[in-house]
Amino acid sequence: MARQLEPDAEQRIEWSAQIAKYASDIIEALPDSRVYSPDTDAGAAFREMPIQEGSRPFEAVLAAIDAGVMHNGINPASGGHLGYVPGGGVFAAALGDYLAAASNRYAGIFYANPGAVRVENALLRWMCQVVGYPAHALGNLTSGGSIANLIAITTAREAHGLKAADYDKAAVYLSAQTHHCVQKSLRMAGMGEAPLRYVPMDEHYRMKPDVLREMVIADRRAGLKPFMLVGSAGTTDTGAIDPLDALADLAQEERLWFHVDGAYGGFFILADSVGHLLKGIERSDSLAIDPHKGLFIPYGLGAVLIRDVEAQFRAHHYTAHYLQDAMEADEELSPADLSPELTRHFRGLRLWLPLQVFGVAPFRAALEEKVLLCRYAWEHLQAMGFETGPFPDLSICIFRYVPPSGDPDAFNEALLHYVQQDGRAYLSSTRISGAFWIRFAVLSFRTHKREVDQALDILREGVAALL
Ligand SMILES: *Cc1c(COP(=O)(O)O)cnc(C)c1O
Repeated sequence: MARQLEPDAEQRIEWSAQIAKYASDIIEALPDSRVYSPDTDAGAAFREMPIQEGSRPFEAVLAAIDAGVMHNGINPASGGHLGYVPGGGVFAAALGDYLAAASNRYAGIFYANPGAVRVENALLRWMCQVVGYPAHALGNLTSGGSIANLIAITTAREAHGLKAADYDKAAVYLSAQTHHCVQKSLRMAGMGEAPLRYVPMDEHYRMKPDVLREMVIADRRAGLKPFMLVGSAGTTDTGAIDPLDALADLAQEERLWFHVDGAYGGFFILADSVGHLLKGIERSDSLAIDPHKGLFIPYGLGAVLIRDVEAQFRAHHYTAHYLQDAMEADEELSPADLSPELTRHFRGLRLWLPLQVFGVAPFRAALEEKVLLCRYAWEHLQAMGFETGPFPDLSICIFRYVPPSGDPDAFNEALLHYVQQDGRAYLSSTRISGAFWIRFAVLSFRTHKREVDQALDILREGVAALL
């Protein structure tokens, strides 16, 4: 019975072929599939499919996944996904995952698989080079941006030698547009009492560095111990980039740990048209940057880059008797010494394989295309009579329709509902200073002019229907 867990070669190839065919059909059907199908009953049949002692036919299991999972909710693989921060799902990355899982190679500790650790560290060094970090910097490949931010904050806390008694004075500077995972990470890092100092923003939703300087000086005078400055390289709401170079100057003068959240926008440094807007990112102490956003990799891959890797090591390294075989001095730092994780998926392969097979150029071109598509949408929305937010720094813009009479918030909420019910495009919304805004976020490698035009058409129809 136990041997059933190891199907023979013929069976393996047959199952793999079924999955490969099924996945390929899904991708093939994407241009004509709905991106949003609200169906809260979907998957209810799983209740009649309990985990049981006995087996079920592979085909039946695949059919249940198809029926219960693949046709409801939001489809992040679709090029029509223009909400939140869209994902991607480069197919070659799935093959890297498949290989990593089927071989179950372990990239946590150098000794256990020097080659696998070298793959992950090579990716981190490539990212460090892309953003302009020094050669000795490193970081960690994480499950996403939230954990990347957590590792950075934990490292900053240790690098500044903060102890629990210091936390209620350790002021953290951020903006109202900073991603909520920064506050969440501070709390998880034990620093929930740290005073959060919200720096005012200009009309582009970028932090005002002069006001920040005054705040830091006043806080010191008032007895606080300014600790960390968090800049955003592309905010989630509007894609705004804080003035990173000016923030770096101030962090240097005031000896603040300068963390940049580039989970969404960091990889736009690869795009010539906007890369220069990220100037100053190379002067940060730590940076969160998500391949599962800006490099179109399937969900499950973020990265944190840290200039002072020794501080990162001190903040995360631990040892145990059962790890004694692995403790010889190694040429490469081990991911397990630089993050909260020990046993983990060999997640580097899902990025290394596509980067090797395609090279960087198509990623660069796709990012450039996203920037152009967002500008195109912004201009057309204005021409269509929408009120728009600022000209997009990257590939996200906000807009709303101001109807001749009635409550604009209610109107835009209804308009968003209209788009979502249509199902061919997916947009999401936010509130800024209390006002309801619809967002246009272009980041899927599958979004091209056709998808943007389609979304604009639906919005045009929606406004007409609601007026
Ligand atoms: C998405 C995002 C995060 C969180 O990253 P996850 O990968 O979702 O954990 C953090 N910051 C910004 C700016 C983001 O856009």
